[in-house]
Amino acid sequence: MKQNVTIIGAGLVGSMMAIYLGKRGYKVDVFDKLPDIRKESISAGRSINLALANRGIRPMVQLGIIDKVETLLIPMKGRMLHDVEGELQFQSYGQKPQEVIYSVSRGGLVSLLRDEAEATDNVTFHFKQVIDSIDYDKNCINLIDKTEQIHPHKFDILLGADGAASIVRNSYENHGVSGVSSELLSHSYKELTIDEDDNGPNRYKIDKNSLHIWPRGEYMLIALPNLDGSFTVTLFMPNKGEISFESLTSKEAVNQFFSDQFSDVLDLIPDLAEMFFENPTGILGTIRCEQWNYKNALLIGDSAHAIVPFHGQGMNCGFEDCYALNALLDEHNDDWQKVMDSFTEVRVHNANAIADMALDNYIEMRDSVRDPKFHLKKAIAFELESRFPKQFVPRYSMVMFHHISYARAQSRGEIQFGILNKLSDGIESVEQLDLVKAEKLVSEKLSVLSEHDLS
Ligand SMILES: Cc1cc2nc3c(=O)[nH]c(=O)nc-3n(C[C@H](O)[C@H](O)[C@H](O)COP(=O)(O)OP(=O)(O)OC[C@H]3O[C@@H](n4cnc5c(N)ncnc54)[C@H](O)[C@@H]3O)c2cc1C
Repeated sequence: MKQNVTIIGAGLVGSMMAIYLGKRGYKVDVFDKLPDIRKESISAGRSINLALANRGIRPMVQLGIIDKVETLLIPMKGRMLHDVEGELQFQSYGQKPQEVIYSVSRGGLVSLLRDEAEATDNVTFHFKQVIDSIDYDKNCINLIDKTEQIHPHKFDILLGADGAASIVRNSYENHGVSGVSSELLSHSYKELTIDEDDNGPNRYKIDKNSLHIWPRGEYMLIALPNLDGSFTVTLFMPNKGEISFESLTSKEAVNQFFSDQFSDVLDLIPDLAEMFFENPTGILGTIRCEQWNYKNALLIGDSAHAIVPFHGQGMNCGFEDCYALNALLDEHNDDWQKVMDSFTEVRVHNANAIADMALDNYIEMRDSVRDPKFHLKKAIAFELESRFPKQFVPRYSMVMFHHISYARAQSRGEIQFGILNKLSDGIESVEQLDLVKAEKLVSEKLSVLSEHDLS
């Protein structure tokens, strides 16, 4: 007899894990405090669309749902940089045709994952259910339903997939589990929309197959395409200071700021200032947690590791959690105690690594991309990857296009950073690269990657 698994949170990660467990024959109940987006029109909450990459795609292939997911995807081949004058510069993410990332709608993807979980016939979703308390000794959660009644629900295994503000993680702390740290970023974000083009030759007002960035040093604007021809635009900027959310207090100030810094966007969003004040400002932060399991419970996804969105990896990392958890269930023959101990051991340091790299990437996106030296180093990195494909893989590519662990991508990335600094010193173009020195540095400092790392 397989145990009953209860998942708290029917978000992206909870819904994907429900498919895995339903397919394995577990009886799964998933509880969420919100209504079902498939039945009631509710806002998808933060980030209407997200970037999906290899780590998120692999479990979809394994689950046999990738063909359906593909109908929701828009490939983005690189960054389209917009300078203050409105000049464009395209920078490819990778060198191979398959090295692209995909824009996907949060609401569309979560709906599809829920449908697929239900299709296993072993998964039941319960919406508008809020956790009141968790009794880890009696394996019981108390839920408050839509009629405000408290009702108990027994579980064998409890998965906390309830996001960054996880109640499950907080309840661990109430039971004496320590090692949780949370760090708010001093920058926040606001989403705006570029509507579809009713008059143009195609429905998109700017290039559909790019992730657009307006880097401005301390702050930036980005835009990802949606299937309906619109773009979701996100402004990331400091909370306080001369140029900050705090300083933009009137429509005039917002229009002036956009006219000075992002005039091409002002042209694309006629009602920008109204939208700016109608839409909420979202906070950003990093949550690290040393212990993901407690008794019969385990944290997955953002509840275990919320990260800032600048590497586009929060969801991808959560999907990789699902893949890893399923692999451990195979390895340990569904012995959950062993699985939960191993899962924490395997995943925590990797989650910490992507949390760090996501913070680094904010500086790269908003600032470094404006520096010609950055572009030279990127060109050298591509050249080294072409010449030494099993040793030098740019850090961005390791994270987005391969399955090498995040922790190894981070440590190899640091070594590569040193190599790129040495090789770019004193030259102005990739043609001037000292190939003898490059070969020596790469062979001395970087081990050969396995087929698995490079897959
Ligand atoms: C602005 C922004 C942009 C982002 N862009 C990207 C990107 O491009 N690529 C990427 O990979 N990631 C991105 N992310 C990160 C991504 O959104 C998260 O990593 C992902 O949503 C985590 O999924 P989850 O299921 O763990 O948590 P969530 O999506 O937060 O889902 C948690 C679920 O739990 C439910 N819940 C919460 N509390 C309770 C409770 N007490 N009782 C019952 N239910 C509860 C919620 O209603 C929700 O349905 C971005 C995040 C932000 C903020």
